[in-house]
Amino acid sequence: MNDTFTHKGMRKRLVDTLKKKGIADKAVLQAINTIPRHLFMDSGFVDHAYVDKAFPIAADQTISQPYTVARQTELLEVEKGDKILEIGTGSGYQTAVLLELGAIVYSIERQNELFKKTKLFLPKLGYRAKKLIFGDGYIGFEAAAPYDGILVTAGAPFVPKPLLSQLKIGGRLVIPVGDDVQIMTVFTRTSETEFEKEEYGEYRFVPLLGDKE
Ligand code: SAM
Repeated sequence: MNDTFTHKGMRKRLVDTLKKKGIADKAVLQAINTIPRHLFMDSGFVDHAYVDKAFPIAADQTISQPYTVARQTELLEVEKGDKILEIGTGSGYQTAVLLELGAIVYSIERQNELFKKTKLFLPKLGYRAKKLIFGDGYIGFEAAAPYDGILVTAGAPFVPKPLLSQLKIGGRLVIPVGDDVQIMTVFTRTSETEFEKEEYGEYRFVPLLGDKE
């Protein structure tokens, strides 16, 4: 698995692009500067790895656009040692970003092909999630709750209740909500029963699929 000076140079330019687009969190930029994104894509597509675009991976899914990964991670406000639940493991790239930030990561994927591939791949790069789960993100992962943060990396037609209830008080749920177009939404749990809601503009994700889809 090759990570050359050329790749590193391309990464640095990608980081400059993200800064220009408004990403300011230094730890997030550093994570993107460190992680060899090209290795998370099929080898034929290496040329596309360091442009700010989403790209197809296996099972009709996508690796999210670097700006989106950076923005969602920034909104999550991860501190070292935080327990984070990711919904939609996909290629594992976002998982790697969270691990670079020092988070303890649980991640759920519903496509078995991707789950199996990423579970083998991440440790090869030295990225060790606490647990990768094959299952349905709509129900979260109660066994390890509550979480400091929950990050949904697919477009959710509605906000799944279990995800809200699995947040710690003070914890944040970052979730793109909507059908064709999603609004990036952050819920902060302020008490046992109350949540604050903030919105951060429009995005387009592949859908968060239900059990029978
Ligand atoms: N975080 C991924 C990455 O860095 O490559 C991007 C993932 S892609 C935009 C969204 C992922 O969510 C896909 O891998 C898809 O299979 C997964 N997904 C869709 N519905 C899901 C569900 N109900 N539970 C868990 N994962 C789901």
